[in-house]
Amino acid sequence: MDYKYLASLLFPQPLPSADEIEAKYPPRGLPEGAAVTRFAPSPTGYVHFGGLFPTTVDERLAHQSGGVCYLRIEDTDSRREVKGAAEALVKTLAHYGIKFDEGVTETGEVGAYGPYTQSKRAEIYHVFAKRLVEEGRAYPVFSTDEELEEIKTADKKAELKSVDWEVDAGARREAMLARRNFTIEQVEQELAAGHKFALFAIAEGDGTRKRKVTDLVRGALELPENDEDIVLLKSDGIPTYHFAHVVDDHLMRTTHVIRGEEWLPSLPKHLQLFSYMGWKPPKYIHISQIMRLDEGGSKKKLSKRDMGANLDDYSRLGYCPLAVTEYVMTLLNSNFEEWRAQNPDKPYTDFPFSVKKMSASGCLFDLHKLDDVAKNVVSRMTAEDVYEQFYAWAKEYAYDFASVVDTMGADYAKSIINIGRGGKKPRRDYGTWVELQSFMKPFYDETFEVENDYPENTDLHDVRAALSAFAETYDEDDDAGAWFEKIKAICAPLGYCADMKEYKANADAYRGSVADVSMMIRVAVTGRLNSPDLYTVMHIIGAERTLSRVRAMINKL
Ligand code: GLU
Repeated sequence: MDYKYLASLLFPQPLPSADEIEAKYPPRGLPEGAAVTRFAPSPTGYVHFGGLFPTTVDERLAHQSGGVCYLRIEDTDSRREVKGAAEALVKTLAHYGIKFDEGVTETGEVGAYGPYTQSKRAEIYHVFAKRLVEEGRAYPVFSTDEELEEIKTADKKAELKSVDWEVDAGARREAMLARRNFTIEQVEQELAAGHKFALFAIAEGDGTRKRKVTDLVRGALELPENDEDIVLLKSDGIPTYHFAHVVDDHLMRTTHVIRGEEWLPSLPKHLQLFSYMGWKPPKYIHISQIMRLDEGGSKKKLSKRDMGANLDDYSRLGYCPLAVTEYVMTLLNSNFEEWRAQNPDKPYTDFPFSVKKMSASGCLFDLHKLDDVAKNVVSRMTAEDVYEQFYAWAKEYAYDFASVVDTMGADYAKSIINIGRGGKKPRRDYGTWVELQSFMKPFYDETFEVENDYPENTDLHDVRAALSAFAETYDEDDDAGAWFEKIKAICAPLGYCADMKEYKANADAYRGSVADVSMMIRVAVTGRLNSPDLYTVMHIIGAERTLSRVRAMINKL
C-alpha cells in the first residue's frame, strides 16, 4: 500500500513537518543530571492527598538537580473536565510548596515548550500521527464512537486480564487483524461519505513474551509485550493519553515521569510508541496508592471519602501547609524524619531527597503521625508566622474567634503564641490552628470558662483559703522566683508541704503539696488542670484579669 498517499488522504490539511516541530522544542541546555519533571493532571476538579506524592517528587527531583518542573494540563477527555479546575489546582499545589517553573499557571501559560494544555496541541499530534501512517505503522478505523468504545473496553479488560480475557482473546485478535486489513479505495469511499476515523498504531509485540521495563523505584520488571493495537487518535481527532503523553514528554524534554501505578500495565505500550517514534523514553516512577488502616487493622486504599483524602480537609482543620508537606516527605523518604531531628532549623528543601529511599509498596496514611509532624513543624515556626497563618485561618474558618482575637490586638495574641517558643526544646502544645484556638481560649474573657472541675479529693475549703491568700499577696511586679516563694508561703498555714522532696518522703504528714496549691490557682486562672507556665500566663493576661478570676472562683465555691 502507498502509505504516503494514505497519510495524505487521512490528513489533507497542511501541516508543518515533524522536523519543524522538533526545531521548536530544542534540548533544554540544562547541566548534566538536571531533571525535567512534570505534573500532568486531567482537570477533574478534585485534589486528592495522593496528588501531593507525585508532585512533591516532581518538585524535589527537578529543583534539587537544577532542573525544571512544569505543569501540563491533560484535557483530552472533555467529558471529565471541570471548569476552573486547573486554576484551582495550581493554587492548591502552590499552597503546599509545589511551584512550577513552567506550564499552566494561575495567570496563563509560561515557558518556551508550550502550549502546555493538550487541547491546544491538536496539530502537533496530527503531525506525528501522520508520520506513523506514512511509515506504515498506523491505520484508520472507520467506525462509530460506540464501536470504538467497545474496542477500548475490550482492550482495557485485556490490560487488566479480567476473567473472560482468555476466552475473548482469540476473537479479539481476529477482529484486530481484520481492522488492519483494508484497501485505499475503501478509505477513499469512507472519507467521501464524510465518515470519521480513529487512528490505531500496529502493535508489534507478542503477548506471550515478556519485555523488561525499569521503574526507578520498583526496579527491573517484566511485563507482557504489548500486542494490542494502540488508539492514537479518537474519531474527533483528539489523541488518547497514551499517544499525547509520548509526544509531549518527548518534545517538552521530560527526563522523569512520575505518575500513579495505574499506568504501570500500559508501560509496554508507551515504550512501544517511543520506539516507533525513534525517541528516547523518559525514566518512569510509578507511585503506589496511598493506604490507610481500617478499624480492624487491615490495609485499605485511602478513598475519596476518607478523612484526609481531600486536601480541603487540611485547610479546614487548620494544618499549616508546611506540616502537610513535611508529612509527605516523611512518607516518601524514610530517612527524612531522622534528618529533620538532626537539622531542626533547616528548610525541608535542604534534605537530600532520594528516589532510592522511596518504597515500592504503598505509603500508609496515618493522621496521628501527621499530628505529630505538625506539632514539630509549628513548634519551630516564629510566633509572627504562626500568628499570621492562624489569623488568616480564623478569618475563614473560625470567624467569631477572629473577632475575639481582635479585641486584644495582634501583639497580645503573639505573646500567647510565643509561650515556650525558641530554644532547643520548644513546647509542642498544638499542631493545628483548631488546637491553637483551643490553647488560646483561656486568655480571652469572651472565651474563658472553667472547663475542669477540681479533682474529687480536693478540699474546697483549702481551695478558698489558698485562693484568698494568693489574692492578698499577688504582686505583678514580682519576678518568677519571688512569685513562687509567695505560693510556697501559702502552703504551711494550710498544712501543705512547700518542698516536693520532703513531701515525697513524708506525704502522710501533709494535706497536700505545693503542686496541689498551684493546681488550685491554675484552675481558677486558666479554667484548666493543665496549662503552660502559670507565671507567664498571669503576666500575659495581667493582674486585673488574674485577680478577678481568682475572686470569681472564691465566690463560686
Ligand atoms: N493525565 C494523566 C492522569 O491524570 C497523567 C498521568 C501522567 O502523569 O502521565 O492520570
